[in-house]
Amino acid sequence: MSNHNVTDFKMNKQTKEKDRKHVSTRAEDFSLATTSKSKYGAIEILLSVIDNVTQAVFITDLSGCIKWINPSATRISGYDEKELLGANMSILKSDHQDQHFYEKLWDEINDSGYWEGEIWNRRKDRVVYLQWLSIYAIKDDLGETKAFLALCTDLSEKENFLAALNRSSFYDNLTGLPNQAQLRKSISDVTDSLVSKDSKHYFVALNIDRFSYINMSYGYSFGDKLLIEIGKRISGKLRDKDNVFRLSSDLFVLIFRDVPSVDTLINIVNRISDLICMPYSIDGKQVSITASYGISLYPDDGQDYDELMQNAEIALRVAKESGKNTFKFFSQTMNEKATKWIKLGNELQDAILKNDMRVYYQIQVENGTGIIKGAEALVRWKHEKYGILSPCDFIPYAEISGLIIPLGYWIIENIFMLIKDFKDRDLPTIKYSINLSSKQIVEKNLVDEILKLTNLYDIDPAQVEFEITESSAMENTERTFSVFRTLKDHGFTLAIDDFGTGYSSLSYLADFPVDVLKIDRSFISNIDKKDNQRRITTAILSMAETIGLKTVAEGVETIEEVEFLNEKTCDLLQGYYFSKPVDKESFEQLLLEKR
Ligand code: C2E
Ligand code: MG
Ligand code: MG
Repeated sequence: MSNHNVTDFKMNKQTKEKDRKHVSTRAEDFSLATTSKSKYGAIEILLSVIDNVTQAVFITDLSGCIKWINPSATRISGYDEKELLGANMSILKSDHQDQHFYEKLWDEINDSGYWEGEIWNRRKDRVVYLQWLSIYAIKDDLGETKAFLALCTDLSEKENFLAALNRSSFYDNLTGLPNQAQLRKSISDVTDSLVSKDSKHYFVALNIDRFSYINMSYGYSFGDKLLIEIGKRISGKLRDKDNVFRLSSDLFVLIFRDVPSVDTLINIVNRISDLICMPYSIDGKQVSITASYGISLYPDDGQDYDELMQNAEIALRVAKESGKNTFKFFSQTMNEKATKWIKLGNELQDAILKNDMRVYYQIQVENGTGIIKGAEALVRWKHEKYGILSPCDFIPYAEISGLIIPLGYWIIENIFMLIKDFKDRDLPTIKYSINLSSKQIVEKNLVDEILKLTNLYDIDPAQVEFEITESSAMENTERTFSVFRTLKDHGFTLAIDDFGTGYSSLSYLADFPVDVLKIDRSFISNIDKKDNQRRITTAILSMAETIGLKTVAEGVETIEEVEFLNEKTCDLLQGYYFSKPVDKESFEQLLLEKR
């Protein structure tokens, strides 16, 4: 007999005895409280409901030992009552979830008293099946957890599965807010309805500023809790006819219907912004955040989901670019810029096929001697109408459209062909730096493809360095870490590009599999004249030396900057002072001249 007294779960032991034997013995075992004397009281009805629900109900003690079950528990698990009672809940466990999954689940129960989600369990006949599981901590009057209640819906039963599918296809698993599919539906409801002349419907794309920094500094579980809290704060303040949706990581969309004037909408957005900026207290830590907002309105800025969302996101991007923590309404001028951008994007696909892309090379020289030790490969687009286009004009689109993946491989292959060609012709052997975008890092075939090309062109990995910007590395720390680790194990070197602009810390990077820091041009430019920059750069250089990282100064333009850096421990210098990025032929000339 258990000594647990679950007063919150008020079942009447005595009234159960006659007609529901299986419940009474189990309830007795669990010492359920006897608070009602009425045979047909609320507790009786509740028990009857629990007995007849298709969901399995388990009550366990704090160690997971099963103390109480309903009939569905035996039906779904395949174990009989005797086998379940007294056994540990782990009897149902499959090996489909890892340790991390369970750690997160228990963290959440400990914090909020509740967890809900999909989980794979194993039946007695060893068949693994999908469940929708809700776990509640049962607390006593003092708030102490005394037991756990688990409700399991068998998703392998078709109807349940469809219901859960419906739930997860329209609601975001983390915050419980409606998701993108639901937003699509809501927008079509809005556009199908009649709009009065005097009021408009507004779509607000809301993105948390520097959210990746929060994840990086406080951990993903903290970031998740923050997103849940943000969702609650917003939804708690909306009128019945307004809605908030979570689209992806830190992107939310709000719909405000029938807003009488722009001023009213601005007031609403300011109120939401104040709410979001209020400090958060999570896991004993306090943080404050800001957000940026992009706004489109129906019907003026679009007729359907695609137009309205695209324009709200264009406005959001402009808000981010203009310093964050602000809102922007979509405008036609933004649109013209975006249209040109989208047009270029469409042409980019052809350009790759038509071989209109070029790789330029910018030399990197040894500090002090000026000897060429390396070169950075920088892509260009030889556009028939606009001439040579800089990567800043098309890489962002290539990233959004996914074209960066084929383009990225095209660039790597081109560089490898050049390395092989130069080796075959006995030209000087130097190191080549290749830029990788964060989208390439998350692509699962990246390492395999690089290795294939390495074999194909017989490349020595020691001659190749991959660069990723500091901010991209901080966006996807775990993935970048593992890709870098594997590439490093194969003999490639890794660099953090534009260092100093992305909020990482040197102590953090000390544990990262990286060999080189490229100090951003903004620190190097006029370094001889600017005290502050000089101090920061000097500190970065000496700390990098301490933790064993090599350094490259980017954007060296003047003799004064060169002379300043000559006095420092910076390893390589790169910039217009030595050479602009040049095409293959000119690069070959440079190598021969300066060898
Ligand atoms: P990055 O990797 O930091 O490359 C350095 C950029 O600084 C290059 O711009 C280079 O031309 C420019 N630069 C070098 N020295 C100087 C200087 O002394 N003064 C000034 N004002 N600028 C200098 P570029 O070629 O326009 O490339 C811009 C960015 O586009 C690159 O920055 C890199 O992030 C990205 N990028 C370039 N090629 C590729 C590529 O093949 N793949 C990917 N994913 N991104 C690329
Ligand atoms: Mg670079
Ligand atoms: Mg750079």
